Amino acid sequence: MAKIQMKTPLVEMDGDEMTRVIWKMIKDILLEPYIDLKTEYYDLGLEHRNATDDKVTYDSAEATKKYGVAVKCATITPNAARMTEYDLKEMWKSPNGTIRAILDGTVFRTPILVKGIVPYIPTWTKPITIARHAYGDVYKNVEMQVPAGGKAELVYTDKDGNVTKETIHEFEGSGIIQGLHNRDESIESFARACFNYALDIKEDVWFATKDTISKKYDHRFKDIFAEIYENEYKDKFEAAGIEYFYTLIDDAVARVIRSEGGYIWACKNYDGDVMSDMVATAYGSLAMMTSVLVSPDGIYEYEAAHGTVQRHYYKYLKGETTSTNSVATIFAWSGALRKRGELDELPELVHYADCLEKATVGTIEDGIMTGDLYSMSKLEKKEKVDTEGFLKAVDERLKAML
Ligand code: NAP
Ligand code: MG
Repeated sequence: MAKIQMKTPLVEMDGDEMTRVIWKMIKDILLEPYIDLKTEYYDLGLEHRNATDDKVTYDSAEATKKYGVAVKCATITPNAARMTEYDLKEMWKSPNGTIRAILDGTVFRTPILVKGIVPYIPTWTKPITIARHAYGDVYKNVEMQVPAGGKAELVYTDKDGNVTKETIHEFEGSGIIQGLHNRDESIESFARACFNYALDIKEDVWFATKDTISKKYDHRFKDIFAEIYENEYKDKFEAAGIEYFYTLIDDAVARVIRSEGGYIWACKNYDGDVMSDMVATAYGSLAMMTSVLVSPDGIYEYEAAHGTVQRHYYKYLKGETTSTNSVATIFAWSGALRKRGELDELPELVHYADCLEKATVGTIEDGIMTGDLYSMSKLEKKEKVDTEGFLKAVDERLKAML
């Protein structure tokens, strides 16, 4: 069989530890035998980030802007322990944070459903995609702990020096205060990212805030979404047969639990942080989630939602057998290759991506799985395989399909 040819390179961001090991295995076993892989390679492994003073991370994000599609391996976000372990010049920032800031995106996370892994909510037969706004609110807050007997005020000074003031609270006892903000521009890109993604995957968008209590702050989110929907997306949604639906966050939570899934749930930053952990856990695990960052101008960066699986890596380094789940990393590749295939009009690349995902899910549904899934699967006949064994089993099915 002739290898599939690509037109535009994918931006390939390599990473750290066990996921770096898996990255190479996926390329060797599942990608390169079938595709004449064209990538622009950036090594985001911590050693190389340190050697380049983290320039490589910035370069990889700029390359993503240029080419439009990237695939990223999990990376270490350094902490004190990593400073010594890797003899770092600086405690480099989280690559995901750097890339998000440059691409200004929204993160979409969707569970991968397989037979045998039963969600804790029995009605959830379709995936729920969480779209998390990744800017502002409590993640950019200013806070104070204050002593008794003072007054807290909210003060805004405009560019001409005019002052607007509101009393927050007159404290008799001691207490706490917090200042939050968001930017219209960021909320607008969040809304557009959600609506574009919905058109892409043909699913409804649900959005919820607490606008009954937060009559200006949360209400602004609601208004911006409504305005952008009415002016730019209503017709396209109707043509695609999908809906935009706004409700209160309390009502949304109740509806989500009763739902069968199959929609995008757009969440403010904090709601998205908390709800994505809840949704991921209820569906199974982070190793069974896809994650893609979508920028308002339609740039896509695919990754796995889990970390570098450090504990497994140390076992691997000692020569012990590992059974690490590669599904999320395989889906990062298939997602990126499919998107590249769609943009470059390469149906055989899109077909390959579809087959790779079907072969991966099929392997697990045939009862062949890594340890994490083995302990969760309700299948009667199941077999636990090692990291490489799983990829080889996927390849057997992939080969048959192609
Ligand atoms: P982790 O890599 O998510 O792993 C935590 C535990 O979850 C593992 O020890 C393992 O449990 C289980 N697990 C996660 N992914 C798995 C998989 N694919 N297959 C099987 N089991 C899996 O988190 P961590 O070990 O605490 O963090 C390691 C590094 O990852 C940190 O340096 C952190 O900065 C980085 N990180 C990166 C990203 C990213 O780049 N997207 C995200 C989060 C964290 P058992 O040990 O019980 O088997
Ligand atoms: Mg969280």
